[in-house]
Amino acid sequence: MSTTFPAAQLIAHPESFAAMDPPAILGVFGDPVAHSLSPGFQNAGLDACGIRGQYVRLHATSDEIAAALRTIPTAGFLGANVTIPHKAAALELVDEADENARRAGAVNTIVVDGGKLLGFSTDGPGLSRAVREEFLVDLRDLRVLLLGAGGGAGRAAAVQCAMEGCERLVLANRTLDKARELAAGLAPFFKSDRLIGPVDRLAAIPMDESVLRTEMSHVDIVINATPLGMRMTDASPLPASLLTPSLMVYDMVYTRGKSRLVREAEAAGARAAGGLSMLLHQGAQSFEIWFNRPAPLDAMRAALFDSTNNP
Ligand code: NAP
Repeated sequence: MSTTFPAAQLIAHPESFAAMDPPAILGVFGDPVAHSLSPGFQNAGLDACGIRGQYVRLHATSDEIAAALRTIPTAGFLGANVTIPHKAAALELVDEADENARRAGAVNTIVVDGGKLLGFSTDGPGLSRAVREEFLVDLRDLRVLLLGAGGGAGRAAAVQCAMEGCERLVLANRTLDKARELAAGLAPFFKSDRLIGPVDRLAAIPMDESVLRTEMSHVDIVINATPLGMRMTDASPLPASLLTPSLMVYDMVYTRGKSRLVREAEAAGARAAGGLSMLLHQGAQSFEIWFNRPAPLDAMRAALFDSTNNP
């Protein structure tokens, strides 16, 4: 695993990053960040394109993130990724943000443009590409049940579904008020009178088994955006008894091997996929934003899947 640098070093000695061999030109800021898989596959992308530079891990606390991001132009970085818990703060710290980032309330990708920082959110587009790759279908053609709509990833997914004009969107969250608030903000996207049967095109529901059961016959895909499944001991975000063969299940959680939700979905005869493909595609889109060229997807995918021992 490559080194994690303290943000304090970047802030105090930005020149030390340009002096590395190859120079650090990109990095991921987070807390914790040592587990991040991004350096492995982003560096494979840089190598595959013959770009001289490296992508590093940077540990930044909430007290450090503003100064650290302000320092990246001086350090010679072309851009950066931002991960937990700084994505919302990053939106406030950039000079400009794209529509996806503004609506999702989060920035995960930054481009240095002169002295300015431009912010983007690639989580939603990454999910969209992953769903297309895994299930050969577009979000816009699907009735989506989103579990964990109150979190950062859930919000990004909901915004993507809305912006693509998905057939139907059901926002499920443990804290119902958050799902309701998100639904209110996305309501303008669902105003058309597209016919979808006896149910609303946009709904906010609690994560209760009885309510989820009622929804299951009116959705095509379940997307898990809760962290449930990251630990072996976690409960599943969806009771196995609700899984049916006609469903698609996309679990944003990525683990070594299959998550419990993916295993239970497959056992029920459903098509299911874990979150590595989203991780790959959100990173590939960041690469495309930084370099304005297609990402070398095969090289990045091979590095990512090698590092997790996933096929
Ligand atoms: P987060 O901001 O902490 O959001 C957590 C969400 O999950 C909230 O909606 C929360 O509900 C819900 N939740 C948490 N614990 C729960 C529980 N025990 N039961 C029911 N609901 C629960 O996290 P995040 O950053 O959005 O990340 C969520 C997951 O997505 C993580 O596993 C992360 O690794 C994954 N992710 C994957 C990718 C990828 O590229 N594959 C990208 C981003 C995130 P409340 O609102 O009620 O608290």
